[in-house]
Amino acid sequence: MIKIDNVFLMFPTMRCNLRCSYCHFGWHNDKDGGGYTWTGYGKEHRIEREARWYELTMFLNKYRPYKLEFSGGEPTLYPDFKRLVNSVPEDSLWAITSNAMFAADLLEDMDFHRCQGWTVSHHKDSPIFERNIHRLRNATSMAISIVVTFADVTSALQRAWRYKERGYQVNLLRELNPGVSWEGTKEWDLVAAHREYGFNVVESDIPPSFKFDRGYECFGGSHYMAIMPDGKVYRCYSHAMLGEPIGDIWDLETEPPPYQCWSECLGCALDHQMRIKKIEEPKNAECT
Ligand code: SF4
Ligand code: SF4
Repeated sequence: MIKIDNVFLMFPTMRCNLRCSYCHFGWHNDKDGGGYTWTGYGKEHRIEREARWYELTMFLNKYRPYKLEFSGGEPTLYPDFKRLVNSVPEDSLWAITSNAMFAADLLEDMDFHRCQGWTVSHHKDSPIFERNIHRLRNATSMAISIVVTFADVTSALQRAWRYKERGYQVNLLRELNPGVSWEGTKEWDLVAAHREYGFNVVESDIPPSFKFDRGYECFGGSHYMAIMPDGKVYRCYSHAMLGEPIGDIWDLETEPPPYQCWSECLGCALDHQMRIKKIEEPKNAECT
């Protein structure tokens, strides 16, 4: 069993090959074609250029052993995604959440020895999706995640059963959107009951409501950081979305102690898992 010291949530790109209507994010290329702008949680971010795979690798090398959690956007759209994962050293691990709409040759010569798991988010019924999940199942440990929307629990569960009957491991995730609360509902009872049938019903410490409280000491910025496509480094997912960076992959050298934060953690499971204890007073003026 590898002992992991540091966890990095890595967004190699915020571009995506799908445009799901319910996505938290949007993006568009700059007019001159040089970079792009992405939006999330009401904030706009410009990416002049995406960090190169070797720049990311050199930064990460200082934090071994580490675990990379790839997210996005669609991480496999990063041009050197294969080089990036193949450069993860023996003492470290990677895992990914992807929509699996990647090109046929992506998996050729990909090194899966250090892959802890490939989570495929189902967003689109397509022959490409079917081809790729079949290949992934033969290559590594994989599971299909299906988001259950509160307004239409039934169709999500029907889709989940179809994949389960074909032998896939299926994760059921609750929709997390403003105004949606699963707490004490018959819809939640139905979803939770699917644990008994072998589904992985994911809660990951996120409350069954859209209300996230603030005031925690956490590993954000010490043993846990988020790396955005332009190489900027943030304490966590929530700060990457709405806060300020603590440096970038070219200049970050400090390893501060656990951070006392008064920001509100958004609905990211890793952010919630990295909290150590509740605090009662705001300790850092930069948190809002
Ligand atoms: S696949 Fe994911 S990142 Fe891409 S548009 Fe859909 S929800 Fe957004
Ligand atoms: S928002 Fe949450 S995860 Fe991020 S630094 Fe604050 S307490 Fe930690």
